[in-house]
Amino acid sequence: MPTSLPQESLLKEHCYIDGHWADAISERRYPVVNPANGDVLAEVPDCSAQDTEQAVEKAHQAFLTWSNTTSKHRSQILRKWFDLIIEHQQAIAELMTQECGKPLFESLGEVNYGASFVEWFSEEAKRAYGDIIPAPFADRKILVQKQPVGVCSAITPWNFPLAMITRKCAPAIASGCTVVVKPAEATPLTALALAELAERAGLPSGVFNVVTASHGKDVGEVLSTHPLIRKISFTGSTGVGKLLLKQSAESVKRVSMELGGNAPFIVFDDADMDKAIEGAMVSKYRNTGQTCVCANRFIVHEDVYETFTQRLAERSAALVVGNGMDEGVQQGPLINMAAVEKVDSLVKDAVSKGGKVLTGGQPHELGGTFYQPTVLTQLSRDMKIAQEEIFGPVCPVFKFRTEEEAIEIANDTPYGLAAYFYSNDQSRVWRVASKLDYGMIGINEGIISTELAPFGGMKESGMGREGSKYGLDEYLEVKYLCMGGL
Ligand code: ADP
Repeated sequence: MPTSLPQESLLKEHCYIDGHWADAISERRYPVVNPANGDVLAEVPDCSAQDTEQAVEKAHQAFLTWSNTTSKHRSQILRKWFDLIIEHQQAIAELMTQECGKPLFESLGEVNYGASFVEWFSEEAKRAYGDIIPAPFADRKILVQKQPVGVCSAITPWNFPLAMITRKCAPAIASGCTVVVKPAEATPLTALALAELAERAGLPSGVFNVVTASHGKDVGEVLSTHPLIRKISFTGSTGVGKLLLKQSAESVKRVSMELGGNAPFIVFDDADMDKAIEGAMVSKYRNTGQTCVCANRFIVHEDVYETFTQRLAERSAALVVGNGMDEGVQQGPLINMAAVEKVDSLVKDAVSKGGKVLTGGQPHELGGTFYQPTVLTQLSRDMKIAQEEIFGPVCPVFKFRTEEEAIEIANDTPYGLAAYFYSNDQSRVWRVASKLDYGMIGINEGIISTELAPFGGMKESGMGREGSKYGLDEYLEVKYLCMGGL
């Protein structure tokens, strides 16, 4: 059984630069608020461009030595970090639930999921193999070796306050890179707890830095333009991702972008309905619908449409909504009022154009940022809810007649992150899987993320892959050595 520390020992109210717990140069601070009740949990530094430049320079100095350590050494420190995260999972999960609202059991799930990247890349660190290629001339040898790209920046969102950091930083650190992280303004405390455990694990000063800020713009500009940054990895909205791509183009940085999604969830008439309903519930309602791989559009065959929507509505109406710290709660609050307004405006737009509410359909009686789990039917593709990422507990269910139509509806979006479909027909499974323009596809499965598989999207959902054996390459340069005169 893991032993949890009293939360205070992991609760940090300073940023972490070059191994020091520091204030912003301006000494400005901002409050971190619990979305479930508005309580102020802590205050953290509101760092500026100047603070960020300092962090980048320190990360650069650290890179000069860290990149020369052995992969075995890096592996051992990462493994220690993993062990400490697992040891303190309860304390981290409590911190996470309080700053981002997700139910405690989900926070515990995220701590384990996030830690798994540290474990995986502690192992992969030792496998950044090169090649010897048969040369075209007898007096030459052709060698390929892999080297860390340099100082990396990571800009992360609030919906996975821990896992989005470890998914980027563990492969970077394993490869010999150093990192400056800017966590989301709403969730800096989990990031700082991670830094505390990194220090206890023995990560040298400057390898992992956390710069907190009340908004992304100034820090983000430095992290995407500073000449010492060689790679930027971002998870967040497509709009900000495009801006960071533009900003980083000037100095031709390497980029990984995990952007928005608009995941289709197709249910064919030959699907196992029990499994489809289970998959729909976990895919839609994880983190109260606030993940980029949550099912965003249910696309259901007309013959099973009635059954599916009725059962989904019953299950949705039975979900327990409340403060994520309370026993038995399945759905927490949304992150802030802006999120509630966005979700509500999508529902209202659908209803004003003829959509029907089967359950929910408005802000929750609990008030604040809680929203009712909602199922909508009688929808058309011109509604905003068909085109935009909902990021809330709302299931719009569209109807289709033929397989071609289902695929056409599913692909009719600029996004291409995750897609799901349920069918028991093997030839259909292969056909549909190859035609969906998505980076990740759940087939008769609603939860697909694991550190062992490549996570990432196509089209405007981004580029690059995180996790798996492919995840390490994102932080490695391929260098070709031609040895002549032999
Ligand atoms: P979300 O809608 O999920 O909050 P954002 O893309 O706004 O998505 O936020 C994801 C991350 O991007 C956060 O860390 C946020 O602070 C950061 N961010 C927001 N605006 C900018 C910007 N102009 N430059 C760099 N980072 C930004």
